[in-house]
Amino acid sequence: MKIARVLVVEDEPAIAELIGVNLRHHGMLAVLAGDGDAAQAHIDEVLPDVILLDWMLPGQSGIQLARRWRADARTKTTPILMLTARGDEPDKIAGLDAGADDYITKPFSTQELLARIRAVLRRRAPEQASDVVRVGGLQLDGATHRVSFNDQAIKLGPTEFKLLNYLMHHAERVHSRSQLLDRVWGDHVFIEERTVDVHVKRLREALGEAGVLVETVRGVGYRLTAPAVVKA
Ligand code: CA
Repeated sequence: MKIARVLVVEDEPAIAELIGVNLRHHGMLAVLAGDGDAAQAHIDEVLPDVILLDWMLPGQSGIQLARRWRADARTKTTPILMLTARGDEPDKIAGLDAGADDYITKPFSTQELLARIRAVLRRRAPEQASDVVRVGGLQLDGATHRVSFNDQAIKLGPTEFKLLNYLMHHAERVHSRSQLLDRVWGDHVFIEERTVDVHVKRLREALGEAGVLVETVRGVGYRLTAPAVVKA
């Protein structure tokens, strides 16, 4: 099994060292960076499997870095786990909106951190079908990761792609938030169901006109549905 390479971007040396020691102790390879520039230098050299990103950093903030790495072709599918000292909801949402896959609030236990890292690593595995699926003008190619609506290309983040991939392969069925966490995220033990809402919102925005195909089923969850007229 490949050893996971974890880039830890944290400016407090004591915390960074502690995380590094714990990750190494559990068979992962930890690379430490004190700010965005140092982190970028590591990324340019070897692409990490996961980035642990502190919110408050000297120079560019964790949010700015998450946005930058999401927009960069090299890092756009690399899972980012935000570390935040704040526990309030708007900050968590801002982190997810910036492209983070998950967040973890300080102080956290080593077990929780390891579980979250394993979860984001596993999330890359489920629903990796490489076929082409079409629903109501939407087309998704699992092999090339291309999505289009009525032949217009659509850009999606990695989580939104996986979510749409799952919904398209199981169209017309209603999925609860916890089912989606299980099937799309791969592990819902430590992730709040609210996370699903955030990614559904992002998916709808990215889909533009086709966003209406992603329906909210009140009190139950979400469903991808194609109007009968355009259904092939
Ligand atoms: Ca910090």
